[in-house]
Amino acid sequence: FAAAVVKKGEEPPEMEERSVDPSRPMIALTFDDGPSASVTGRILDSLEQNGGRATFFVVGSRVQANAASILRAYQLGCEIGNHTYGHKYISKIGADGIRSELGTTNQLVASVTGVSPVLMRPPGGFYDQASLGTVGELGMSAIMWSIDTRDWQHRNAQKTIDTVLSQVKDGDIILMHDIYGTSADAAVYLIPELTRRGYQL
Ligand code: ZN
Repeated sequence: FAAAVVKKGEEPPEMEERSVDPSRPMIALTFDDGPSASVTGRILDSLEQNGGRATFFVVGSRVQANAASILRAYQLGCEIGNHTYGHKYISKIGADGIRSELGTTNQLVASVTGVSPVLMRPPGGFYDQASLGTVGELGMSAIMWSIDTRDWQHRNAQKTIDTVLSQVKDGDIILMHDIYGTSADAAVYLIPELTRRGYQL
């Protein structure tokens, strides 16, 4: 009987084991605007090979067509976050708009993973006090970043790699986008390199 009980603080049995040693450096890789089968897949391959995890802030309108990628990410222990249904700026759409954009996406993700996201990232990085209040009323937290690779703009893998490696420090949250091949190129270099440098992903 006791073996069937998941103790407080333990992962449910279907999850891969994951743990973070708080005495060692750690960083969070975050990917917005996806998923896309090929790009997200390459990033997941590298995370799996290196024992890392990342957070994917998915766009709701892409969830159903990319359900397999989301399920695989979730089963690898990655966090699935919400990036609104239609990549809407939450400071522009009012409380009802935010509830609709986030709620629809949460339902779509939950239909794939069984778990409703609790983290969201504001598209464009735009927010204000009112929109953050609505996010909070939904029981969600808005997550920003500390290193912006601007990978979506220059689409240059080496520039993304250099931006990260020249700035990275313990506790950073790195922003990338898993819809560009050049971002996957950068990620599959960065994931083993950051791991080699002692960062827990
Ligand atoms: Zn975005």
